[in-house]
Amino acid sequence: MAFELPPLRYAYGALEPEIDAQTVEIHYSKHHATYLKNLNTALEKAPQFFDMKLEDILSDLSKVPEEIRTAVRNNAGGVYNHNLYFANLTPDKGTKPSGNLAAQIDKAFGGFDNFKAEFEKAALGRFGSGYGFLSVNNPGRLLIHSTANQDCPLSEGNYPLLVVDVWEHAYYLHYQNRRAEYLTNIWNVIDWKEVEKRFDSYKNK
Ligand code: MN
Repeated sequence: MAFELPPLRYAYGALEPEIDAQTVEIHYSKHHATYLKNLNTALEKAPQFFDMKLEDILSDLSKVPEEIRTAVRNNAGGVYNHNLYFANLTPDKGTKPSGNLAAQIDKAFGGFDNFKAEFEKAALGRFGSGYGFLSVNNPGRLLIHSTANQDCPLSEGNYPLLVVDVWEHAYYLHYQNRRAEYLTNIWNVIDWKEVEKRFDSYKNK
C-alpha cells in the first residue's frame, strides 16, 4: 500500500507568530505532499518496499535497487524528516524538556540554554538546504548535528528525536534571509513532550 501523508495535528495558523499560516500550508500541503508523491512513484518499481517502515528503508538504503536509490534517499528522507518536523511542532507554546531527557540534555550539553545555542549554531551553519537535528547516536548518546538536502540521520546510524527544517521554504515568506531569527523563535513552538516520547520509545527498542 502506498505511503500516506499523516494529518497535521493543528490548523495552519496555529503556530503564529513563530511560523506563519501560509508557510505551514505550503510546506505541508505542497512540499511535504510532493515528497510523498515522488516516493510512491519511485517505489512502484520496487513495490515490496511499500510493506516496509520508512525507518527501516532509510536505515539501510543499500537494499534499495540502485536505479531508484537516489530518488528513495531524497523522497523517503523528505517524507520522514517532514513527518518528524510537523510532529514536533505544537501550538502549545513554551514547553521545555523534562524528566530523563532534560537530565540527559544537561549532562551532554551543560544545560538547556547551551543546548539551544549549540543546536542553533549547527542549523545556522548548514550551508544551503538541510536540517538541524537532536539525535541519539549508536552508543546511546545525545548528538546535535545537521544533514544536507533530505538526508536522514537514520541512514547515518543515528536516531532523530527533534528536527528543525532550515530549507528556505520553511521560513522565507516570513523571515526572508533571517534564518537565525527563525531558529531563535522556533523554540517556542517545539513540542518537548513529543521529543521526550521519542526518546523513551528509542530506549525501549
Ligand atoms: Mn521542508
